[in-house]
Amino acid sequence: MIEIDGALGEGGGQILRSAVALALVTQTPVRIENIRAGRRKPGVMRQHRTALLAAVEISGGGLVDGAIGDTTLEFHPGAVRAGDYDFRVGTAGSTTLVFQTVLPALLLADGPSTVRLEGGTHNPWSPPFDFLSEALTPLLARMGAKVDLSLERYGFAPAGGGVFTARIEPVRQWTSLQLEERGETRSRTARLVVANLPRSIAQREAKVVRARLGWSEREVEVVELTDVTGPGNIAIASFGSEHVREVFCTFGERGVNAESVARQLGQQVRQYLKHDAPVGPHLADQLMLPMVLAGGGSFVTGPLSRHARTNLEVLARFDVPKLRAEELEDKRVRVRCS
Ligand code: ATP
Repeated sequence: MIEIDGALGEGGGQILRSAVALALVTQTPVRIENIRAGRRKPGVMRQHRTALLAAVEISGGGLVDGAIGDTTLEFHPGAVRAGDYDFRVGTAGSTTLVFQTVLPALLLADGPSTVRLEGGTHNPWSPPFDFLSEALTPLLARMGAKVDLSLERYGFAPAGGGVFTARIEPVRQWTSLQLEERGETRSRTARLVVANLPRSIAQREAKVVRARLGWSEREVEVVELTDVTGPGNIAIASFGSEHVREVFCTFGERGVNAESVARQLGQQVRQYLKHDAPVGPHLADQLMLPMVLAGGGSFVTGPLSRHARTNLEVLARFDVPKLRAEELEDKRVRVRCS
């Protein structure tokens, strides 16, 4: 059994998800203590609980503790089974993070799977659906992993009610990803999305994005959603280059004006463009586990976040190909799997 201290590094929920994902992949039981010790309210939250139950369901595994509020758990994975699954977070908790937990194992399963997830699809501090569909899964496809995603309905916090589905083909042959540079710019778009809020919020955001980034009217789109439970506002920028697409986002919230939401988005894009690294901070930590599955590959990113370094530590605890981070000039880092 592998023992993981949930207080290591950042001490957040990613430790639990990565550990459980790796337990499934390597078929090794794992015990986690001090779950989310670095967070204001430690212990398992609903999103993590859903991820744990999903891991149990796809593998017929066993779970000791790991109820909401628990700070320890043991997970004993069983053999992973392809199938049709339906996971509901029950609140606006992040569906994309639940998906992150089961995806690696389902890529190694004995047949195709369909996963339907219900809850939040666009949550602060989590990958928005668009990040999965536009940034992550195209890179997975290059690694030999075919994952088709479709968004049925947006789900924003606190109302939730979003739905997306994923069709996952098991990987026949992994290919190592080599991602050294962005290459030339191919397309860039910003989407300013509002649900059950005045359209003028998104229009004000669009104006600031155009001014800050110098993007044209054609590249900046206002999207007004219907059929969404509760209000929501997200500003998304999708930046496509020859070798990679990156997706950034910021969320509107009560008390924060639309202009400042858009300015923060502009800042993220400008930060990404400041150096030549193709992989942004979130993609960096989400590419690590797939690269381990592929057993090779490398990518160049900016300085590693504490989150990414914590993830590296968790991966290093399992019997899988090792990842190494090598400092390059201009504060860039190459992450390599060997
Ligand atoms: P906690 O409440 O403990 O922070 P958590 O389980 O919600 O727990 P983290 O441990 O912070 O979350 O992990 C968040 C995950 O979401 C990471 O994989 C991170 O890369 C990803 N993420 C956060 N924001 C974005 C974003 N804007 N775009 C893409 N991915 C994101």
